[in-house]
Amino acid sequence: MIAGDDATRASVTVRAPAKINLHLGVGALGAGGFHPLATVYQAIGLYEDVTVSDQQDWSVHLTGEADLDLADVPVDESNLAVRAARALCVHHGLTDHAARIEIRKGIPVAGGLAGGSADAAATLLALDRLWDLRTSDEDLLRLGADLGSDVPFALLGGTATGLGRGEEVAPLEDGGDWWWCVVPHAEGLSTPAVYRHFDELSGDGVPPPAVPDELRRALASGDPERLAAQLHNDLQAPALDLRPELRRTFDDGVAAGALAALLSGSGPTVLLLCADQAGVHEVRRAMVEAGHERAVVAPGPVPGVHEVVYENAPDTRNLR
Ligand code: ATP
Repeated sequence: MIAGDDATRASVTVRAPAKINLHLGVGALGAGGFHPLATVYQAIGLYEDVTVSDQQDWSVHLTGEADLDLADVPVDESNLAVRAARALCVHHGLTDHAARIEIRKGIPVAGGLAGGSADAAATLLALDRLWDLRTSDEDLLRLGADLGSDVPFALLGGTATGLGRGEEVAPLEDGGDWWWCVVPHAEGLSTPAVYRHFDELSGDGVPPPAVPDELRRALASGDPERLAAQLHNDLQAPALDLRPELRRTFDDGVAAGALAALLSGSGPTVLLLCADQAGVHEVRRAMVEAGHERAVVAPGPVPGVHEVVYENAPDTRNLR
């Protein structure tokens, strides 16, 4: 991240990554309506690009890779990118600023990969640079946390622990170059519905969540077999209960040669950890042959939000 020091420009593009949870420990529902989390995030190579430019009124324009369904993404004030922009303006006391926000989506919507949070993080940094606001990293993280639990991690990237509601992030040592085959599903899963079902299934006596030490050691070792043995998601059982057909994706992934299969966040995206770069392409090929045409390869960890410069302007023909 790091706020910019360039002079004012006509437009700024910032890229933000998808997140996965290598460990998602969920505690009992608290009085404030939130579940305490102990999670390990990793940023992976699927991205949203957000381009902002000065304009008299706020507007959001969406474009996306061909197989992404954008129907459920709002283009009004409820879009997380607009909420982020508004929060930044309030923070700096700006009352007469507005922008055109172009979101080029590369992260499946409602897939448990935090695409909306990535857009919010990218918008915070892009507007900070466009208007040369010089917001401190601490303030960006705080603004992000108010927008959503996954937003601070989208700012930070890499591999990190997430405590509280997931918004208290801290970098974690990661000695690996990990390769993931990411298998999205056409129909998204509602995060609140999966948490509700977690409550129904777990009843009383849910222990406080914690990040396992052996997972920290596996990450530092860089050994994919060791990491595979440590992947865990408390939301996997409730999500599979709501969507039993996901089991086939897990089985197909292991049959295709993945070291482990894991649900991403609240799902329904399934993550297949592979031994190496050659292995992940073989697994992807096998998944496509098994009928999972949307399977893609993504490396991890990758950086958090950062400015990008296109050699050619982005294709805006599909804007809506
Ligand atoms: P969550 O962050 O709730 O766990 P997720 O990671 O599964 O969700 P997202 O792609 O972030 O999935 O989308 C969740 C919902 O947020 C969408 O269905 C959409 O209605 C809403 N939303 C608001 N703004 C955005 C945005 N910029 N991009 C995607 N979805 C957005």
